[in-house]
Amino acid sequence: MFLFQKKKKAIGLFSGGLDSVVAAKLIADQGVSVTLLTFLSPFFSDKTESIASLGAKELGLKIKFVNLGTEHLKMIQKPRFGYGSALNPCLDCHIFMLRKAKELMNKLRADFVFTGEVLGQRPMSQKRSDLILIAQETGLRDLILRPLSALLLPLTRPEKKGWVDREKLLGIEGRSRKKQLSLAQEHGLQVYSSPAGGCLLTEKEFAQKLKILWQKWPTITPREISLIKFGRFFETLDGIIMVGRNQEENKNLMKLKSSVDYFFNCPDWPSPTTILVGPKKKDYIRRAASLTARYSDAPADKKVFVEYGNKKQGLKRIEIKKAIFSPNRKNGPESF
Ligand code: SF4
Repeated sequence: MFLFQKKKKAIGLFSGGLDSVVAAKLIADQGVSVTLLTFLSPFFSDKTESIASLGAKELGLKIKFVNLGTEHLKMIQKPRFGYGSALNPCLDCHIFMLRKAKELMNKLRADFVFTGEVLGQRPMSQKRSDLILIAQETGLRDLILRPLSALLLPLTRPEKKGWVDREKLLGIEGRSRKKQLSLAQEHGLQVYSSPAGGCLLTEKEFAQKLKILWQKWPTITPREISLIKFGRFFETLDGIIMVGRNQEENKNLMKLKSSVDYFFNCPDWPSPTTILVGPKKKDYIRRAASLTARYSDAPADKKVFVEYGNKKQGLKRIEIKKAIFSPNRKNGPESF
């Protein structure tokens, strides 16, 4: 008698990067109904959503987006398993994301979860012991499949039950992406992001700014995190000043400022947009104005008019000397 086996469903973690694209292809080609899951966060590239959408389209798969939000921020401040080389709590972060994947698996009544993780590719979260720990901590146990390294890992339920054919899975280990690249080429897959366009938490300079922000405001929001992605960063005692470096950054800073932040520019000269976040003390206003003048095209020996304020309180003008020495010398570190 012919027994009809229901098509199995899987949730695939999908960053839009090469590994996740190849993993999704391997599973979808086995007749599994795949829903891709992409996380969005201020720590990721602004292009994550568009690249992942294009990647899903190329693969012909459904995709869902989940914003990592404030819960994820709290986890980053106090990770159980510590940080990597910067402020990246990769082990906790993987556990966090896979718990979210499990929630979606239950909601969509899917049968298992898979990822593009590769054994030994990253020192902090992809050692054999890490992969086992993640499976236990998330409660997914043998319902989490890593198609790129499956042949080197213990059997999972999808393999044991024949939902996927283990022989069609891979045994990749380490940092080289040769095998993944050749598979992508073989299948004509062209849309994936480069590994370099990754997570800002792994960048030391960004991590330093984030730590300063956290000291000032322990409950920072994704907006403030996005703000420090653009422009030169300066501190006041209880706030920050961001100075745009080009048109693009000026535009982004204007988009991200809140209704109470002050913005600054020089009406008579090409100048950056500067945003003052935090208290609007007289000193801070003078400093933000002086920085705006410093990075403007106004001649060094002239006094410069700087306009500042916000929509609520209206605009004011201040006449200021262009800063010619490090404007942070007395009140904090140089910008970065
Ligand atoms: S690199 Fe960033 S997003 Fe990736 S696991 Fe580490 S902290 Fe999380």
